[in-house]
Amino acid sequence: MKWKASIGLEVHVQLATQTKLFCGCRTTDSNAPPNSSVCPVCLGYPGALPVLNREAVRLTVRTGLMLGCAIRATSWFDRKSYFYPDMPKNYQISQYAAPLCEGGAVEVEGEDGIRRTVRLRRIHLEEDVAKSLHIGRRSGVDFNRAGVPLMEIVTEPDMGSPDEAFAFLLALKRILLCLAVSPCNLEEGNLRCDINCSVRPADRSELGTKVEIKNLNTFKGVRDALRHELERQQAALEAGELLEQETRRWDADAGATFSMRTKEQAHDYRYFPEPDLMPVRISVEERESWRAALPEMPARRCERFMQEYGLPEYDARVLTADRAIADYFEEAARGASNPKWVANWMMTEMLRRMADAPSEAWARLPVRPAALRELAELAGRGVINSPTAKAVLDVLFERGGDPVAIVQERGWGQISDAAAVGGLADRVIREHERVAADFRNGKAAALQFLIGQGMRLSRGKANPALLRDELIRRLGSRSESAG
Ligand code: ADP
Ligand code: MG
Ligand code: ZN
Repeated sequence: MKWKASIGLEVHVQLATQTKLFCGCRTTDSNAPPNSSVCPVCLGYPGALPVLNREAVRLTVRTGLMLGCAIRATSWFDRKSYFYPDMPKNYQISQYAAPLCEGGAVEVEGEDGIRRTVRLRRIHLEEDVAKSLHIGRRSGVDFNRAGVPLMEIVTEPDMGSPDEAFAFLLALKRILLCLAVSPCNLEEGNLRCDINCSVRPADRSELGTKVEIKNLNTFKGVRDALRHELERQQAALEAGELLEQETRRWDADAGATFSMRTKEQAHDYRYFPEPDLMPVRISVEERESWRAALPEMPARRCERFMQEYGLPEYDARVLTADRAIADYFEEAARGASNPKWVANWMMTEMLRRMADAPSEAWARLPVRPAALRELAELAGRGVINSPTAKAVLDVLFERGGDPVAIVQERGWGQISDAAAVGGLADRVIREHERVAADFRNGKAAALQFLIGQGMRLSRGKANPALLRDELIRRLGSRSESAG
């Protein structure tokens, strides 16, 4: 029997706000001392009143607009009631009936190069809970994270394999980074993921029984957990067992998932509208002003690079994989006589030298994009040869500056003086009479050898195009006079 898998993800993304979702406490990283950024609101004191952080709304809607979601003109918050050991008010403020964003999609490209669409169900806003710490025999709760804004992105069960789920997460992270809505720092837990998955016979359209795996915090963890869980489900179905709808957890050390609770034990969260907050209203003007401020989708930028700068698909892909690199390239390529020359320098020397540098490094590189454009121009036009160009780039990396000035300063210019190159041509012909004769007798390939000898004699500084002309002029005129 053939089997088919269906995977839906619920991704919790920490938003890049300065302060928490319903109070003025600063958002901190994991290095901050425990409980150093707390107040009665995020500690869950009875009677403390939440006030909505409008910036979190903007970032969520910005993401929704980028992903093609419909934005609700009016949405609201609901209370999700539960016994939370790390949330003393025992409800989480979330969105249930009326999320900020609905629908939308993420384009995912698989390893086979085929593009698939993963549809989104909704994107809503909610508060994070606190963190329980267990040190020796003592336990404590750190509330720094309580009340931090999370944007939850829920997909349709459109992914068909662990690799596709992995590719989805990479594509999503790339877009979130491009939008600057989240730091997307996985070590800090900025992206956490619940997995829903099921298996069914390939000839059936109705989805199989869903199993949920809670709280994965690495993309690799998602892929590993899915590989094991789908295998487990398939083996169970093959053995004729009935699967139960349940919630499981992934144990990376054991390399297996373990049941936490079944459908019978499922929680009833008793959702109801949060009475302490007003509904969230977003006017058409506000929404459209946010839409107008959207950056270009990485995939669209890739296509534009191919058209606008005449790049091969491979180059365009590499250069748009990171927004900082794409911005750098575009600044350098804009106004270049031949953008492909700039792309070639990016693809080889620049990416090699920047391989271990973080993205932010591109913006403060001593080699300014305009300098790279000029260098590509000098090398492309043959004013300097390739080893010299690399030496100029070394100088630019060290202390910046202007390529033309560096070349002049150091006398690195190419020999483009006709008399000097002519003299060189004479010498080459004298020293290689036999090869020169071959050329005169019609062996065209002999010319390449003579040019090579001339370049060697000039230690690479002769202008190769000029040298070629001078050689042909001499050999051609001799052959004429001989004939
Ligand atoms: P709820 O969380 O309200 O119960 P669902 O269970 O329908 O909503 O959906 C939660 C997540 O599970 C979504 O990402 C959805 O795509 C996914 N999902 C729903 N049904 C299945 C299924 N049979 N197999 C795999 N994923 C599913
Ligand atoms: Mg759920
Ligand atoms: Zn607070």
